[in-house]
Amino acid sequence: MHLWQEFRQPNSISEAIEDLLNAPAPVVPIAGGTDLLLEMRQGRHEAANTLIDLTSVPEMNVIEKRGNFLYIGACVPVSQILASNLVRNNAEALIEACDLIAGPQVRNTATLGGNVAHALPAADGTIALAALGASAEIANQNGLRKLPFLELFLGPGKSAIDKTSELIAGFYIPLSDHGQASAFKRIMRPQGVALPILNCAVWLEREEGTVKGVRIAIGPGGPTPFRATAAEALMQNQILDDELIQEAVKKVLEQGSFRTSPRRATSEYRKHVVSGLFTDTFTQAWERSKK
Ligand SMILES: Cc1cc2nc3c(=O)[nH]c(=O)nc-3n(C[C@H](O)[C@H](O)[C@H](O)COP(=O)(O)OP(=O)(O)OC[C@H]3O[C@@H](n4cnc5c(N)ncnc54)[C@H](O)[C@@H]3O)c2cc1C
Repeated sequence: MHLWQEFRQPNSISEAIEDLLNAPAPVVPIAGGTDLLLEMRQGRHEAANTLIDLTSVPEMNVIEKRGNFLYIGACVPVSQILASNLVRNNAEALIEACDLIAGPQVRNTATLGGNVAHALPAADGTIALAALGASAEIANQNGLRKLPFLELFLGPGKSAIDKTSELIAGFYIPLSDHGQASAFKRIMRPQGVALPILNCAVWLEREEGTVKGVRIAIGPGGPTPFRATAAEALMQNQILDDELIQEAVKKVLEQGSFRTSPRRATSEYRKHVVSGLFTDTFTQAWERSKK
């Protein structure tokens, strides 16, 4: 059985949109193919007539500063993000997340855009971007527009992007300033391929002993990438001590929905370990912010 009939390689975003709209349907965009091809082979994604390979689009392959933002094109492979000092100096949480995605072979082809467009609530790159305050750049036939990151997600595996007419072109992340830092950690079951159980990313801004701002993302903490906004509000402008962290953990547990996943972990286990995971991730970011 053929999974597709035609394979197109556009060389610009406008060409890619043109192909999405006009190539013989069903038309499906592909980047690294590490999620999509598996799903097609396993019958969890419909076969395509036309695959639109986005990886030759130059605008989607850049990592650069744009004003006060770090811009990462959607088709930059995970291994190139890991090798970028610009990312390392501005988005430690994303480096730590990329360093845990799969192994070297997958990282050489898997892209950040595919990780996000797949719309899983615990994808590692996605959780890091959620805490880093990213926004997405969306392309359609009218041009480019920015979308707040969490508006990309409708449910597990359900992206708000209409892939028959639009694409994720890239991501904007605010450049890191003095007193700001981030961290990412994951609990996983080591085996042939590590089976992730829970991940957490924290971005924070510190002024002496006070938490001036904080963003906390945990996956899976709900059907879409979860921001622990109640804990964030509780910690904002407060002096950091052990009690504040314990109160924040309570808010995370109240607001998050930590479900049982077959083969991964029970809800009870996730609720038990989230306290230590959040505390460790927050503490790592806090220590970094002192440098
Ligand atoms: C062995 C293995 C281990 C893995 N381990 C991890 C892990 O530890 N952590 C983790 O988070 N993930 C992991 N993954 C999942 C996977 O590698 C990532 O989700 C990857 O980043 C997906 O990117 P891709 O370029 O391969 O996407 P593709 O497979 O090409 O595409 C995924 C989906 O996104 C759509 N799409 C792709 N790019 C765009 C775009 N720019 N705009 C709109 N839609 C788009 C496609 O149509 C498709 O629906 C693993 C995968 C494998 C095979």
